[in-house]
Amino acid sequence: MAIEVTLSDHTHDPLRSLYTAFRVCYSSFTPAQIEARIERDRITRDEMQEFVSARLATGHSSPLAQVWFEFGISGVTRAFSHQFVRHHIGISFEQQSQRYVTYKDGTYPFTVPESIRRAGKEEAYNQAIEAAGKTYLELIEAGVPAEDARFLLPNATNTNFKVSVNYLELMHIADQRLCTRAQWEFRKVVAMMRSEVKKLFPELATYLQPKCGEFRLGYCDESYADWEGCPIGRKRPHKSTLFALYEQSKKGALDVLSDTDYQTIEADEPGVNEMREGVKDEAF
Ligand SMILES: Cc1cc2nc3c(=O)[nH]c(=O)nc-3n(C[C@H](O)[C@H](O)[C@H](O)COP(=O)(O)OP(=O)(O)OC[C@H]3O[C@@H](n4cnc5c(N)ncnc54)[C@H](O)[C@@H]3O)c2cc1C
Repeated sequence: MAIEVTLSDHTHDPLRSLYTAFRVCYSSFTPAQIEARIERDRITRDEMQEFVSARLATGHSSPLAQVWFEFGISGVTRAFSHQFVRHHIGISFEQQSQRYVTYKDGTYPFTVPESIRRAGKEEAYNQAIEAAGKTYLELIEAGVPAEDARFLLPNATNTNFKVSVNYLELMHIADQRLCTRAQWEFRKVVAMMRSEVKKLFPELATYLQPKCGEFRLGYCDESYADWEGCPIGRKRPHKSTLFALYEQSKKGALDVLSDTDYQTIEADEPGVNEMREGVKDEAF
């Protein structure tokens, strides 16, 4: 069975929601006043986008949890689902049950990984799947409940999900599961979730990246060998580059902070946060 991912519902207007959530933190206006300003077109979509993008570049992440997406996911394996449900913060799952759904004729949907096809082992694989189904049916016909007969079913068995996930967690899942180190099926599902979001909200999909993405860590934190073997590894520096900087620091080889630097620190001037465009109330 082919994998299918559909975005079935979402926060009505994610950009507006994110803008309001971030803006409330940095404004003397009340949420109602902020909403009224959006309503009266005092704030354009471009301005909202610009403000949200600037906030996304900071570590201020909690407003992202206010935006949610609902997905229907089908044709994935139990091997995938076992990994998927390990994500537990900011995500809710409903999964097809193998207790209440019985494969009454002993056949069940399953996936054949490409590696098995490439190895020329598809026939042997299919035979094992079929044999498990045959014995499963024998058990069901002998009165064994589905919850016990399912013990025979392999990881290849397909399953379906209805999932609700917030944007913050979706970013985190993309960080981990778009990484080429993640299992192919998980990468495929998350790539499909990303492309569903992209159809409606391209500006939000931009941030759904593997952790080495330019909007995420910007470097690879996997092992050096994995980095070397990664098809997109060369696009990003490996963390060891950062360690080299650390080593330099330990050897005392870094540029020394000078008296002038300390004078700058002491100066009665606005700090970096206050100078950042868009953060100050007046910029609203
Ligand atoms: C490449 C890869 C290989 C893996 N291999 C294995 C394996 O061999 N065996 C195995 O068992 N698992 C494995 N996992 C699963 C992994 O250990 C995590 O369970 C899974 O990725 C879920 O991620 P998360 O903990 O970030 O959970 P999420 O629910 O996605 O958490 C989101 C964030 O919330 C925070 N958070 C989550 N839980 C807590 C908590 N209890 N307390 C405080 N803060 C919390 C963390 O900041 C976390 O990053 C693997 C994952 C990957 C990506």
